[in-house]
Amino acid sequence: MKPPVIELHRAALTYPGPPPVAALLPCDLTVRQGEFLTVVGPSGSGKSSFLNLIGLLDVPSQGRYLLDGVDTGQLNDADRSALRGRHIGFVFQAFHVLPHRTARENVETALVYQRVPRRERGERARTALDAVGLGNRTEALPTTLSGGERQRVAIARALVGQPSLVLCDEPTGNLDTATAAQVLDLLEELNAGGVTLIVITHDPAVSERGTRVLRIRDGVLGEPAEPAVLS
Ligand code: ADP
Ligand code: MG
Repeated sequence: MKPPVIELHRAALTYPGPPPVAALLPCDLTVRQGEFLTVVGPSGSGKSSFLNLIGLLDVPSQGRYLLDGVDTGQLNDADRSALRGRHIGFVFQAFHVLPHRTARENVETALVYQRVPRRERGERARTALDAVGLGNRTEALPTTLSGGERQRVAIARALVGQPSLVLCDEPTGNLDTATAAQVLDLLEELNAGGVTLIVITHDPAVSERGTRVLRIRDGVLGEPAEPAVLS
């Protein structure tokens, strides 16, 4: 069995408020290297909260979270950011692509925080864009790209730092069905190359591509007994 990448031990997330919101109730979870996990649940069920916790953008209000064996609760903010930068790539629904920067510059921004020397950044960004099929659009501004192409820029930006874990929050939420399928193909390829992948979605067509599906409802995370009845 592959080693665990993520281990949650009774981890929970409550937003302090007021009023406090228990977004994620205490849960246990082990995700192993190379898994493709999808998490489904209705709007407001805690999917983004779960992803923010896994992505070290938020800290558990109780319980423990180990990432690659590191107990993240013991880290200060700087160390937590450094760990996030080294290990994790993010892809969000709304693309989060900077509008006045070219595709290449958008991808390069991910390397600034990794302290990659400036002269190497351009080459790495071009390679990442090539990998998502945008090698001929590296100098394009996002306004001249389609939704699917913009999401591929976002994926290239998530990949360029060679993360071992890629987290996607509704990555196809703004895309038509055919473009969404292409983006999923790309994520699947990435997973086939060894990257651990977690995709949050409310779309059963997306969740069924995962090799393991979790359901979240009212902040309760669990394995569905019957994958066919997900929604
Ligand atoms: P989903 O992604 O499944 O739509 P979220 O994780 O965004 O759900 O939200 C889960 C619950 O936590 C919701 O009730 C939401 O209103 C609440 N919530 C999300 N973010 C915050 C926040 N920063 N402060 C307070 N409550 C929040
Ligand atoms: Mg959400």
